[in-house]
Amino acid sequence: MTKKIKLFIFLFLITSTYVSAQKRKAIPPEKPKLVIGIVVDQMRLDYIYRFWDKFGDNGFKRLINKGTICTNANYDYLYTQTGVGHATISTGTNPQFHGIISNNWYVALKKQSTYCVKDDHAHTVGGKSEEGNRSPRLLLTTNIGDELKLSNFQKSKVIGISLKDRASILLAGHVANAAYWMEDKTGNWITSSFYMDSLPEWVRKFNDKKLQELYLNRKWNTLLPIEQYYESLEDENPYEEGLLGQTSFPYDLTKLYKSYKSYSLLKSTPFGNTITKDFAIDAIVNENLGQDEYTDILMVSFSSTDYIGHQFGPSSVEVEDTYLRLDKELAHFIDFINENIGKENTLVFLTADHGAINVPKYLTDAGIPSGYFNYRKALSLLSSYLNALYGNGEWILNYTSGQLYLNHILIEDSKLSLSDVQEKAADFLIQFTGVANAMTASNLEKGNFTSGIFARMQKNYNQKRSGDVLINLEPGWIESTIAATNHNSGYQYDAHVPLIWYGWKVKRGTVNRKVSITDIAPTIATFLKISFPSGSTGSIIEELTK
Ligand code: ZN
Ligand code: ZN
Repeated sequence: MTKKIKLFIFLFLITSTYVSAQKRKAIPPEKPKLVIGIVVDQMRLDYIYRFWDKFGDNGFKRLINKGTICTNANYDYLYTQTGVGHATISTGTNPQFHGIISNNWYVALKKQSTYCVKDDHAHTVGGKSEEGNRSPRLLLTTNIGDELKLSNFQKSKVIGISLKDRASILLAGHVANAAYWMEDKTGNWITSSFYMDSLPEWVRKFNDKKLQELYLNRKWNTLLPIEQYYESLEDENPYEEGLLGQTSFPYDLTKLYKSYKSYSLLKSTPFGNTITKDFAIDAIVNENLGQDEYTDILMVSFSSTDYIGHQFGPSSVEVEDTYLRLDKELAHFIDFINENIGKENTLVFLTADHGAINVPKYLTDAGIPSGYFNYRKALSLLSSYLNALYGNGEWILNYTSGQLYLNHILIEDSKLSLSDVQEKAADFLIQFTGVANAMTASNLEKGNFTSGIFARMQKNYNQKRSGDVLINLEPGWIESTIAATNHNSGYQYDAHVPLIWYGWKVKRGTVNRKVSITDIAPTIATFLKISFPSGSTGSIIEELTK
């Protein structure tokens, strides 16, 4: 053979092995090796369009340009809160069935409120507070991670990560290997005795790095020159509550920490998202996620967007800057996944647990119907009214974010009909400006609403946990709050969120038809060829791989 032919054969061999290696690499396996759920706390779909020109190529843009975006993904229930949203994402059903009707609710038997992931039988692991007395015990159905682990006798790994306990725990589920969240007192990642007796070595090592100190020992300034933030209001505007009253850049975090005296400050800065991403990458490496034939699930919820959104409002420079920085974190995270697990092996979805309304005062100034419902005043007047009707007594036991709990024992002892008292209370509350609907539990139990606001209420209504009267405020209205804004309605600004799919066999595309957040879990279950979570009511999003 001539030298030339030898060289040709040699080149052919290396290119062909190279090409086949590339091809082999690019063929997605029958089932993804790793499912990564990314939840952005308090993100509306329109943020994607608003910040599009400022995003880099490899964060949100890569997910959308190389994946499928569902442009009309919605929550179907009334009280759009963090615990409720995360439970809905992972279980594929509504609070009616998964039981997380609200972040907090009232338990008449115990005469006290409970928190959706509170568990007095569990204690903190890895921390110095009671912030780890948590578990998913109040979640009534299984979720996608539970079903995966049940399908192969727990050979899969399922892990939840978030600064917020409820986000991490409710995404991870009952059989999860672990759920981790950040302790305000120390800034360390902790968990609960529900999952384990002591932290894995890699988590202890991560905590030893004290990244929380590093991230707080800096100034938060805008990523780009501030005059380029024309997608937002002026930095100085009358609609923000800010960090300890400070409402404009730059934020000297070292100085602020001296007054805060809690690592909760880190949660209210974009660096809370940075440390979440750092920790998620460490989890993938140290837990060997996506490395064997048993699919693993990693759920990561980014919470800083919510803390900042509440304090500054959706139209603030602070929120915009937080999203531009989150875009960079996502780019880094996806780069890491693609290089280490492979895009074809990993199914990624990104969504949000709820949106948020613009600061009502800002809407009012712009001429849009809006306002603040003073529920304390309304409750005090309702109490006087019930006293006048039925005689003096503690008729109202509790009111939590739209749900009124009446004193059933007093009503029974007074030989009154519960549904009559509920009706009187509802008829009274509907008269307040800002209240759009007041619905009694008795009526929700009677009929079956298929659309509209009462259907949303019914999907939120759990007979054992919900209040006696459920209130829905008018569009543009929120309950009086010390924050700048809130979320807790079924209106578009709270219920319409992004849903993006990327990696594995997901095609490039757009789904414009209406889909429900309850569709996420059954869609993943179909891809993984496992049972749907026990309460699942959603449908499969067929367009993703076709
Ligand atoms: Zn939230
Ligand atoms: Zn929130």
